[in-house]
Amino acid sequence: MSTFKAPKGTYDLIPPVSETFLAVREALAAPLRRAGYGYVETPGFESVELFARGVGESTDIVTKEMYAFTTKGGDELALRPEGTASVLRAALEANLHKAGNLPVKLWYSGSYYRYERPQKGRYRHFSQVGAEAIGAEDPALDAELIILAVDAYKSLGLRTFRLLLNSLGDKECRPVYRAALQDFLRGLDLDDDTRRRIDINPLRVLDDKREAVQKQLTGAPMMRDHLCEACKTYHEQVRELLTAAGVEFEDDPKLVRGLDYYTRTTFEFVHDGLGSQSAVGGGGRYDGLSEMIGGPELPSVGWALGVDRTVLALEAEGVELHVPASTQVFTVALGEEARRTLFGVVTELRRAGVPTDFAFGGKGLKNAMKSANRSGARYAIVAGERDLAEGGVQLKDLQSGEQAPVALGEIVAELRRKLV
Ligand code: AMP
Repeated sequence: MSTFKAPKGTYDLIPPVSETFLAVREALAAPLRRAGYGYVETPGFESVELFARGVGESTDIVTKEMYAFTTKGGDELALRPEGTASVLRAALEANLHKAGNLPVKLWYSGSYYRYERPQKGRYRHFSQVGAEAIGAEDPALDAELIILAVDAYKSLGLRTFRLLLNSLGDKECRPVYRAALQDFLRGLDLDDDTRRRIDINPLRVLDDKREAVQKQLTGAPMMRDHLCEACKTYHEQVRELLTAAGVEFEDDPKLVRGLDYYTRTTFEFVHDGLGSQSAVGGGGRYDGLSEMIGGPELPSVGWALGVDRTVLALEAEGVELHVPASTQVFTVALGEEARRTLFGVVTELRRAGVPTDFAFGGKGLKNAMKSANRSGARYAIVAGERDLAEGGVQLKDLQSGEQAPVALGEIVAELRRKLV
C-alpha cells in the first residue's frame, strides 16, 4: 500500500478543482444569507445517542454507516453522519428557541461521514451545505427553503435538476397509514431483511430500488390517500406557493427519504446526469425531532445539499464556473538586488488588494516566465539590475505578449488601474 493514498471512499480537494468546490459552497449558501439564516458550526462528532435518537435506530445510517468510537475517557461518540440533529442540539443548548424569535433560521457547511460502499457520487467523507428553520409550522417556511435551494442551483447554472415532492403526514394520519401499509406488505413475498423492515420502518420498503420488489408494490396504499385534512391543506399550500414562485416540481408519492424523523413536506432534488447516485440534495419537515432528542415541541423544516454531487452535476452538464484566477500579477526578479526590491513591490501590491505571486527559488528567466504563464496571471513584472538602475521595471501583458517599461514608483498604481 502506498503511503500517499487517501483512505478508501475519500478524496482530496486540490487546485484547481478545490476552487470550484469553494465556489459551489458559497453559491449554495448565498441565498440563505440573503434570507435571514445565521451561520452555525457544530463539532465534527457528537454522542452516539444523539444520532441514535435523532436519526433513528432503524436507519441504515445508524445501524451500518456510523463511524462510532469509544474515547479514552469512555464516551461513546460518532463522526457526524448528517447535520440536522447536531444543529437542533446546538440550538436547544444555546436556548435560541427561547429568545422569542421563532423560527430560528440557521445554515451550515461542513464534512459528513458515512461508512458506505464507495462509488461515484457516494463517498465516506462528503460535504454538505444545509439549512434548518426551527420552531415554526408554516407552509411558507417549507416553500421558502425549497425556493432558496432552487435559486442556489440555478445561480450555479444547473439546468436539468428535478424537484420531487411528497407529504409524509403527521402524528395523526401517519400511524394509521403505517398500519395499512404494514398489512399490505405482510401479504407480499419478501426476503427476511425486508420483512424485518415491515415492523421497524415500513415506509422504507417503498424506497426499495429492486425491480422485483417494486413490481409487488403495485397497488400498495399511498400516504397521499391517507393524509388527514390538516396535512392535505398544508401540502396544498406548499404546492401553491412553489407554483407561484415559478418552481416546478413532480409529485412523488413514494418519496420517503432515509431518515426516520420526517413529517409532512418531504423533497429531494435529483439530477439525471449522475447515474445511480442521483440525489443532489434533499430535506423536509421534522416536527417530532426536537421531542425525540429530549427537547420541547418545535416543528421545523430543513434541507442538506451535497456539495460533491453538485460539482459532479455541473461537470455532467458541462457548466464551467467563473472562478477568478488566484494570481493576477506574477513577479520575476533577476539578481539579488532586484529580488529585494521586487519582493517589496509584491507585498505592496498584495496590500493594495492585487493578488500577486513571486518567482521563488532563484529561477532563471525562462523557468520563471513558465511559472508566470502557469500561474494564470494577467501581467508579469520583470526586472533585472539594469532595469532598476534605469528606475523602472518591465510590465508584460501575458495575454497579448506586449511589454513596456513602467517607473518603479508607478507600478502599483498602474496595476491597480488596470486590474482593480
Ligand atoms: P441525505 O441526508 O442522505 O439526504 O443527504 C443529503 C445530500 O447529501 C444528498 O442528496 C447527497 O447529495 C449528499 N450525500 C449524502 N450521502 C452522501 C455520500 N455518501 N457521498 C456524497 N454525497 C452524499
